[in-house]
Amino acid sequence: MKAAIYKGPGVIEIEDIEAPKMKKDEYLVKVVYSGLCGTDVKTYKQGHRYFEPPCILGHEFSGVIVDAGEDVDKSLIQKKITCAPYVSCNNCSECRKGLYELCNCKDGISSGTFTEYITIPKNVAEKGMVVVNNDCNMSELSLSEPVACVLNSVRKLDFKPGSNVLIMGAGSMGLIHAEIFTKFGANKVLVTDFNEQRLKVAQQLGAAVANPKKTAIKEWIKEQTSGEGLDYIVVAIGAPAAVEEAFNYADNGTIINIFGGLANGSRINIDPNIIHYNEVKLIGSFGFAPNDFKMAARLLQSQRITLGKIITDHIEIDSIKKAFELSLQQETIKAVISF
Ligand SMILES: [Zn+2]
Ligand SMILES: [Zn+2]
Repeated sequence: MKAAIYKGPGVIEIEDIEAPKMKKDEYLVKVVYSGLCGTDVKTYKQGHRYFEPPCILGHEFSGVIVDAGEDVDKSLIQKKITCAPYVSCNNCSECRKGLYELCNCKDGISSGTFTEYITIPKNVAEKGMVVVNNDCNMSELSLSEPVACVLNSVRKLDFKPGSNVLIMGAGSMGLIHAEIFTKFGANKVLVTDFNEQRLKVAQQLGAAVANPKKTAIKEWIKEQTSGEGLDYIVVAIGAPAAVEEAFNYADNGTIINIFGGLANGSRINIDPNIIHYNEVKLIGSFGFAPNDFKMAARLLQSQRITLGKIITDHIEIDSIKKAFELSLQQETIKAVISF
């Protein structure tokens, strides 16, 4: 079978490798679509401590079950699915606190998903696999994982309909936030970015947009929210300066979520009085819990959440290197690999 092998920064090659051997407690799945994630792009650019080359990257996917071992449900053969790349154990100290996304002993699918076939162990299937209808949009379904991460963000913010939200950064994750906040009934969804093309997409999703190079953001927020200010700010840019900037835009009681990962050892400089006197809260969210994943797949299957404007490119596995290069140069917002 074909697989895209990551061999170190800047090097990814299509190779013919042996298909995984399905065990009796596993499903064999043919990958149909697989999303190119920020983490994959970062790994391609500079390497990543979690991904030791050579290996197969990719973790966002949709597929079809083509075979099932004797200890799993054979009636699912031919069904279309998506599956969480990892699931929590539901038993460790983190899981007992309800922090499933931070589980100490996660279990997962057999390999990265930039390949034709993967296997899904029973435990992972039971906790993280979602079977969908035949007419499901499989390209959008492949992005259940990033949508799940945004649902975790929304959950950690304790988002309430009717509130005002600012999203800093209109990359694919910022834009998925915009789509979800709009559909979940935010009063105002504001998005800032330097990239005009991305702002245009945010606008199409129903957000008000501004480029900090051209607009005084603080005044703009005031205007847009009729002087009421922001209830939530999502920092969807991996830059410490953006977190500091968020404190500038916060109002009394605003909750700021550091959604984008920052380089190791980053520091921010803020006046703690903003946290004390203005009761501004700084939180973080990372990954997703199995339940976020199920909700995400449902929302995509029912088309309550749609990603048609965010997925800018479908690229065949043979041209995956091009997908990485386009993503690096910000020529694409979200690329989905097809097989
Ligand atoms: Zn991802
Ligand atoms: Zn656990």
